[in-house]
Amino acid sequence: MTESRYRGRFAPSPTGPLHFGSLVTAVASFLEARSHGGTWLVRIEDLDPLRESPEATGQILASLGAHGLHSDEPVRFQSACHARYRKVIELLLDQGLAYRCACSRRQLKEHGGRHPDHCRQGHAPNDGRPFAVRFALEDEQSEWRDQLLGPQSQTVHAELDDPVILRKEGFYAYQLAVVADDIDQGITHVVRGSDLLDMTAQQQQIYRSLGARPPHWMHIPVILNAQGQKLSKQNHAPALDDRIAKANLEQALAALGQNLRLLSGAPDIDTLLSRATANWSPERIHLTAR
Ligand code: GLU
Repeated sequence: MTESRYRGRFAPSPTGPLHFGSLVTAVASFLEARSHGGTWLVRIEDLDPLRESPEATGQILASLGAHGLHSDEPVRFQSACHARYRKVIELLLDQGLAYRCACSRRQLKEHGGRHPDHCRQGHAPNDGRPFAVRFALEDEQSEWRDQLLGPQSQTVHAELDDPVILRKEGFYAYQLAVVADDIDQGITHVVRGSDLLDMTAQQQQIYRSLGARPPHWMHIPVILNAQGQKLSKQNHAPALDDRIAKANLEQALAALGQNLRLLSGAPDIDTLLSRATANWSPERIHLTAR
């Protein structure tokens, strides 16, 4: 079977402006796609209005543009895809691959992660309490190969790990939307931070349940701050200064272990990115943090 043409993506959640850690992920996914002669897409994962700041999407897109990272196709916004997610959830419910669950976090904790109302068997009481929809996982020892980290083995527990795919507040959840869009957009390769590594085995099951073949995954180390925490909005990671985009890109390439001597002297961002593509060596990424 021939491998379909490489399609990669960068899929930030707009909880704040682009910071150095997200730039590193964007650059890695961009260079992987470009070095395979592939297509690179930007998708804004704006699923949770309570966690998002209204300006963040515009800031992220402006910042990506200032760094020469342009989506090859129109940017997709998950906030505009609710009807498609609803259809996917209905399909999973109809097939018995998802179920309604009104259990509170506390109830689940008190029962060691089991559902006291046997929601998985379709016995959730219809008593007007708000309910979430969960995906029904199968017990599995999932073995797969990460393109950077090598062989992976993850245990998935039915019921105990069943992820929420529609939240009680009515928001579609990351685990569903990310898979639904990666399938819909024909994504063949995912490059993302290793903070999402533990999600992968569950996502593989969601792919299979939707009749799709999972993509190849490459998880890159997350960038840590001086306190050893992942750079994130919660940890007050500073926004990138777009006026020094070339220096930011050089720093991102250094964080990805690339040989800066081969890239030095690039007069502008586009030249820097095409040299970085020609010399892209993911095996140089240091696998220290995970
Ligand atoms: N939206 C997710 C995030 O910003 C990334 C999704 C993914 O790459 O799978 O953490």
